Amino acid sequence: MATVAAPPAPLKRLAPLDAGARLDDLLSKPYAYRSWEDVYRDQWTWDKVVKVTHTRVNCISACSIDAYVKDGIVWREEQNATYEKSFADVPDFNPRGCPMGCVYSSVMYDPTRIKYPMKRAGKRGEGKWERISWDQALTEIADRLIDVVESDGPECIVYDNGTTNLDFGIGSPMESHLFATGVGSTTIDSYAGVGDLPVGLIQTWGLYMSEGTADDWFLSDYIIMWIGNPSYTKVPEAHFMWEARYRGAKVVSIAPDYNASTIHADRWLNVRFGTDAALALGMVNVVLNEKLYDEAYIKEQTDLPFLVRDDTGQYLRESDVYEDGSDGVFFVWNNLTGRKESPPGSWGSPYSTIALDEGLDPALEGAHRVRLANGRRVTVRPVFEHLKKRAAEYSPEKVQEITGVAANNIRVVAREFAAAKSAMIYSSWGACKHYHSDLFQRGMAYLCALTGNSGGKPGSGIKVSTWWPPPNGALTGGGLGGPSVRLNTNPVPELPVDRVGVQELSKVTFQAGRMGSAAPLIPWLYAHDKKWAEMASKQEYNDPSLPRPAREYIDEALAAGWQPVPPYPKRPRFLYYSGPNPLRRWPNPKLIRDSLWASLDTIVTLDFRMSTSALYSDYVLPGCGYYEKPGIKYTSTYVPYVVVGDRAVPPLYESKHEWDVALLLAEKIQERAIARGLQPYTDRRGMQHDLARLYTEMSADGAYTPDEAGEEKALDFILQYSHITRNSGLGEGAWAKAAEKGMVKIKAVQPSALAVGFNSVYSDYTEDRPMYSCGWFVERKNPWPTLTGRQQFYIDHQWFLEAGEELLVHKEPVNSGGTYPLRMTGGHTRWSMHSIWRASEELLRLQRGEPVAYISVDDARKRGISDHDRIRVHNDVGSFEIRAKVSPSVQPGTVIVYHAWEGYQFKDWATQNDVAASPIKPTNLVGNYGQLHYRMASYTMNHVPKEVAVEIERVEERA
Ligand code: SF4
Repeated sequence: MATVAAPPAPLKRLAPLDAGARLDDLLSKPYAYRSWEDVYRDQWTWDKVVKVTHTRVNCISACSIDAYVKDGIVWREEQNATYEKSFADVPDFNPRGCPMGCVYSSVMYDPTRIKYPMKRAGKRGEGKWERISWDQALTEIADRLIDVVESDGPECIVYDNGTTNLDFGIGSPMESHLFATGVGSTTIDSYAGVGDLPVGLIQTWGLYMSEGTADDWFLSDYIIMWIGNPSYTKVPEAHFMWEARYRGAKVVSIAPDYNASTIHADRWLNVRFGTDAALALGMVNVVLNEKLYDEAYIKEQTDLPFLVRDDTGQYLRESDVYEDGSDGVFFVWNNLTGRKESPPGSWGSPYSTIALDEGLDPALEGAHRVRLANGRRVTVRPVFEHLKKRAAEYSPEKVQEITGVAANNIRVVAREFAAAKSAMIYSSWGACKHYHSDLFQRGMAYLCALTGNSGGKPGSGIKVSTWWPPPNGALTGGGLGGPSVRLNTNPVPELPVDRVGVQELSKVTFQAGRMGSAAPLIPWLYAHDKKWAEMASKQEYNDPSLPRPAREYIDEALAAGWQPVPPYPKRPRFLYYSGPNPLRRWPNPKLIRDSLWASLDTIVTLDFRMSTSALYSDYVLPGCGYYEKPGIKYTSTYVPYVVVGDRAVPPLYESKHEWDVALLLAEKIQERAIARGLQPYTDRRGMQHDLARLYTEMSADGAYTPDEAGEEKALDFILQYSHITRNSGLGEGAWAKAAEKGMVKIKAVQPSALAVGFNSVYSDYTEDRPMYSCGWFVERKNPWPTLTGRQQFYIDHQWFLEAGEELLVHKEPVNSGGTYPLRMTGGHTRWSMHSIWRASEELLRLQRGEPVAYISVDDARKRGISDHDRIRVHNDVGSFEIRAKVSPSVQPGTVIVYHAWEGYQFKDWATQNDVAASPIKPTNLVGNYGQLHYRMASYTMNHVPKEVAVEIERVEERA
């Protein structure tokens, strides 16, 4: 099959200043270059320096970078150090950047670059392509999409809203807007799909976005890094932690390996892999026994005084006591009156406050007899009593046996944490990738709650990456009229209230979550891939303490609609993604590739580089690199800035901005819909769609166009009117002003805007101090968005009671992938951002140049493995080969494979994800219980690549 149809477009090369053999050539030109010194000097002159950033990279940071351009080529980049000094006594944000960001100028020109639209010309993955025009590509894709709308319904079109595709400007938002709102497709919710969802925090707090600005770390007196390695994963922010030590803060690392962040710590608790919940319980034991807890705080802010029935293990509810009582109203025992009374602020309470009036002093201890509505009398006691009983099972000596951490060290850290004026736990997304991560996180939340450190004051809380309200909402947000495909040309008015109750908002999302377009990845794979479901629900890989088969729970959750899995019972037929790399990222991708993936009729990749997934798709569309388009970077709260990047050079080859592609595709769908006479339709959610008017509507009657003028107009509008930039005084020409500086300082944000969507900090933003989270609950006494309105230690859902997890408990890691002696874990690396940069020559030179598994000296010796030997890592569900890096920093019994190598970097394309069985934990699928309900990017099962059971063996290499 012929593979090339047209001559390549001319690309300007680095002719004048290219290195090596061309030097003689240059010197032979008498007037241009008179000596080698001139060549050297000219290397440091530029046609222009442009403020850029790395928009569609899931690094969560936002850094402004200077790109140095000459002869139409980006030669190099440098960190931009123009952030303002915010506070006299707190370090500033200068400079920001990371190793990857500083070599992107070479990655954009490397051989993985996708140059032209291409169509598969052989079997999927065979590597045979036909170059086609943009018009042909868009026409065929539009026709295939309309085919699915006509034959199966729009929900069978799937858009993978992965994580390495996100920007908060006009690229990714426009694509997801086109698919979800314009077409009515299914959107894969990949938040937990990559293992990033802090499920334990949702269980305890009803929320999980709990970060402020990163300079708040500097104000902490006691910092625990718990399953976190910020020196690798938070390169631009980590300095605030290390600098906090200059004002006397103590830094503790809790990690099984001696990692790059641990070297900055004052103490290292070398916990046995996977036993973090036991360690937390050991510290809780010390805090309770030595009465180090903050009594007034826990009476107000937690469910510890709430009464639980001895007979059922469930909270005593108003509906238990009165015929017409609410099951969202609970009781405490009032020390002042000697009677049970209902505190305000719970899910069913008419009062939206958790403040206790002076006539109510909830008891933490004691047992009482109460009469139920049916006349029966039962014994009740506060959650605190149950907690004491549970913690008593975890004395420091017992915990030493479980975790390997000396009892004395457990006592010391517990006492220091409780005594600190302000203590924080850094434990972000890396801490969510174990089967029992929710237990680890509940343990962290318990410690913070008992000692009054769950946010609401400087330098406290559990620090988990959080976003400002995404600025693109100004353009795509439908306002109070609900979702609309029409882009805004007039600003959506500010919310009519200055504040909204987070618990109230949670009740709304409880309802809305069921009818959204989103499908959380792990349940979705379970519903749509039989082979995968068989693996992930295997009883031997799941929690042995469950009284019923895992499969029974999962099927029950899906049947109840607790986890939406559209288009089930239909099958997905069309998959479009832009930036993500599902065949690298999804658990056990080789299995999926031969199963669900193979059953899809059409797969479209838009990307700037040829990823593993692109190689297995039907159409490949070339997207712009980061320096070839204007855009807005992730607006994470780490920085009080909106960082923007301008177009330093025109799009390379035939690549296009995702904004342009989304609008061009909409235009083509409209053209084909008219030609085919497609009638308007209603999707499964009841939303109306008319593809014959898709572009007309989406472009707001041509107000926005798929070109440079349209891009700038959209960005201008966003920066003028978004929640976080509308008060920055940019006015007319907002984009041009922002692009010149590379950033916009956030000046003021309406508090209610900070509660919109799944993102929030739950604190007011002010320029007077670094921002911390959860202030509304602690300072303003707003109810937490949980069933009890408090930080909830106790979960009385039946499945939690069956699993013995109504309170925190330690459970050994499950046999994920079979019964094997080692546990494979991983994490983000210093030399790639997911699979982007994984093939970068510069960065590979800083490593071994190929995938490696870090193994301990002990495990290597026992198996006759030497450093750099080739080894096979295997279990029941798969195997892969990799080099061994024997390291004394690795805990025996563990194998560390940092992600995210591409399939093509391994023999037979088998990667570390191919041994991931990803068992599904039933309690993570629960719905219909206060804070436990699915909504986009919240409460569902994570991908769990971190505690995979494996064995390793040396592989004989061919001579
Ligand atoms: Fe900053 Fe992310 Fe770019 Fe690195 S890749 S320089 S962390 S924006």
